[in-house]
Amino acid sequence: MLYVSTRGRAPKLDFESVTLAGLASDGGLYVPEAWPSLTRDQIRALQGLSYVDTAVAILAPFVGDSISKDDLRALCDTAYGRFAHAAVTPLVQLDARQWVLELFHGPTLAFKDVALQLLGLLFERFLSTRDTHLTVVGATSGDTGSAAIDALAGRAKVDLFMLHPKGRVSDVQRRQMTTVLAPNIHNIAIEGSFDDAQAMVKAMFADADFAGRFTLSAVNSINWARLAAQIVYYFYAAVRLGAPDRPVAFSVPTGNFGDVFAGYVAAKMGLPVAKLIVATNVNDILHRALSEGDYSVGSVTPTAAPSMDIQVSSNFERLLFDLHGRDGDALAASMKSFDASRKFALTPAMRAEAADIFTSARIDPESMEIAMRRAHEGSAMVLDPHSAIGYAAALAADLPVDVPVVTLATAHPAKFRDAVERATGTRPLLPLRVGDLFDREERYEVLPNDLRAVQAYIAERATTA
Ligand SMILES: *Cc1c(COP(=O)(O)O)cnc(C)c1O
Repeated sequence: MLYVSTRGRAPKLDFESVTLAGLASDGGLYVPEAWPSLTRDQIRALQGLSYVDTAVAILAPFVGDSISKDDLRALCDTAYGRFAHAAVTPLVQLDARQWVLELFHGPTLAFKDVALQLLGLLFERFLSTRDTHLTVVGATSGDTGSAAIDALAGRAKVDLFMLHPKGRVSDVQRRQMTTVLAPNIHNIAIEGSFDDAQAMVKAMFADADFAGRFTLSAVNSINWARLAAQIVYYFYAAVRLGAPDRPVAFSVPTGNFGDVFAGYVAAKMGLPVAKLIVATNVNDILHRALSEGDYSVGSVTPTAAPSMDIQVSSNFERLLFDLHGRDGDALAASMKSFDASRKFALTPAMRAEAADIFTSARIDPESMEIAMRRAHEGSAMVLDPHSAIGYAAALAADLPVDVPVVTLATAHPAKFRDAVERATGTRPLLPLRVGDLFDREERYEVLPNDLRAVQAYIAERATTA
């Protein structure tokens, strides 16, 4: 399989090259040239398969000739063997039609592990035959950083520089990053906001002098391999609920539009998805875009669900590409005008096409807490704030009564203990496997909100080859 850029001007690449590149050279994002599709019988054949076997079946067409099936299975075995639940992503029933897919049993307690554990192994595998040393630079508001650090710690030929906003991530999130002491992991606390850190990373990629000295790569969800890994659990959950003979809806706590876009790909591949519910918090650009066609950037309001405190959702471009009839030049023109005016209006035709599969909801803090209490008191299920936003949107969705609704639980409640305790009166315990987090030594560098200082720090420490 080959991948094309959403902006139409970058070379077509295979899976190995898109994984290492992250972003396309024309500023676009890579997507498959055509969606692979599964027949109903092929979907039915997934019933009863283990998570790893499901992953091999779903990922094989995307991976193409880059890795043999046996090797892909070995990589998936290693990646998902690190999850604390034998089902990897267990499905839990809350009431007659509401279900929760627990995606937080990985090493760092958020769904980002599902993709990043595999991505870490893919990097290592693809670099092993190349004369290249990768310098990965990223910015995190919390969950991506810890998941990427766990996935890349100690791996050969990769250095990871992870920027987080000093004092603005939870103590659990910070310690999950800063207690990893592997020499190829470099934690940088920026004296600024997440947006400052993110802008700095973008500036480093755009600085030809700086970028030309390293092979830079990205671990955020612009990387196609991450999205591919997330398609798997939509199939895994849906076949357990009767697919392909019964349609299933999913409610997805959404920030960068990566997770829910993976559900869109599953539907394009033939999975009968009744609806994808895009759940946002008060940072509701995606809800406005899907419900009114108004994709215009506001300012970010900090909430109890920080991984959804986002205005510009990078992966929305992948949907816009399809809504532009896969015309890269047309999309590039739209994105150029969006960059200049910070707004874009979806046409009625685009809205209608999106509405075939997507619906959306904006969940305010009070509805989030009500949903958290309802799950806790009614179903003995403790949800983190992000997952509770998904559950609130699932409860509010207007769907036929015979359609089961699966809320994706994107983080373990212990990762956001204070918010959960405020809403439910119960303080979730950290799972045993991370129990000594607060006794471990921390290491990180505090740097000013200054691009040159951060570049100098990276240049001194990155291995070039
Ligand atoms: C990253 C994250 C999200 C948002 O996922 P996107 O793919 O960016 O839409 C939601 N919840 C949690 C806990 C996250 O870490």
